[in-house]
Amino acid sequence: MRSPLNALEVDQLTRVFDVSSPWLNRMIERKPKRYLRAVQDVTFVVQKGKCLALVGESGCGKSTVARLVTGLYEPTEGAIIFAQANDGTPMEAQMIFQDPHASLNPRWRVGDIIAEPIREFALRDSGEATAVRVAELLKVVGLSPDDAGRYPHEFSGGQRQRISIARALASEPEFLVCDEPTSALDVSVQAQILNLMRKLQDELGLTYLFISHNLAVVRHMADRIAVMYLGRIVEEADTEVLFANPQHPYTQLLLQTIPNVASPNRDRQLMGGEPPSPLDPPKGCSFHPRCPLALDICSQVAPAVRARKGGGAVACHLAPQF
Ligand code: SF4
Repeated sequence: MRSPLNALEVDQLTRVFDVSSPWLNRMIERKPKRYLRAVQDVTFVVQKGKCLALVGESGCGKSTVARLVTGLYEPTEGAIIFAQANDGTPMEAQMIFQDPHASLNPRWRVGDIIAEPIREFALRDSGEATAVRVAELLKVVGLSPDDAGRYPHEFSGGQRQRISIARALASEPEFLVCDEPTSALDVSVQAQILNLMRKLQDELGLTYLFISHNLAVVRHMADRIAVMYLGRIVEEADTEVLFANPQHPYTQLLLQTIPNVASPNRDRQLMGGEPPSPLDPPKGCSFHPRCPLALDICSQVAPAVRARKGGGAVACHLAPQF
């Protein structure tokens, strides 16, 4: 650990997937193996009790980072180091998924869904004590203890996400990885869930790694934001610094495309079209085909990550001149 203030340190994290066709097809079609570099040299820290947001368009690698941090994927290279939890063991991260409908077992009653981690980690010594804890968790997330006897399909999307949060809290984690936890919900419900997550963070001292494609959503959640593009972090800074003075052209475009209040769910296309395929990333700066400020050098030389004016880091040839 570089600092006792850090809950998580991620160092030069890289994850490569083999996406080749089956061997026989490759032989017949005379095609080479294909590799997808979903995450490349990603480095960040999350301080204890704080929220770091990873933001970028779909396919930028942010969800792969979430799965690497929670151990669902093994890194190809790099290190993921958690601080010690309050009980002296290494911190464990629990994950809250995007789609609460898919992540809750429809055949289980809510009480059993929430009790499962309590039983698995033997956190209570009797069925009665487990039931008391389940009732407590349901109240913590704004549901009723009576909801323990109902099934997931009897709840709205927002209520199901509350159940997911209660289940994530059941194992008493200090670190939560939240992968687009509100993007499947209506806007009014999104705000309620975000408020709940903030309240829980304050009350329980939780640390969050928050994944989102939407800068507007993370503005009120995150202390710090890292913007990802094609597997790399292109800019990172404290939230208010990033909003006040975005230095990377991609961050500037993301800020320009924040949905407005009148039509918050409208699909907004970034200027310059879709991101290129991570299977075949452009040479030089991977953002150059879409960048309105691109120079000749941008298509040849990848920009180094450097310290950012106002704090943080940025990877752009033009950044020091902004
Ligand atoms: Fe745009 Fe060049 Fe900066 Fe890349 S390095 S973001 S192409 S100006």
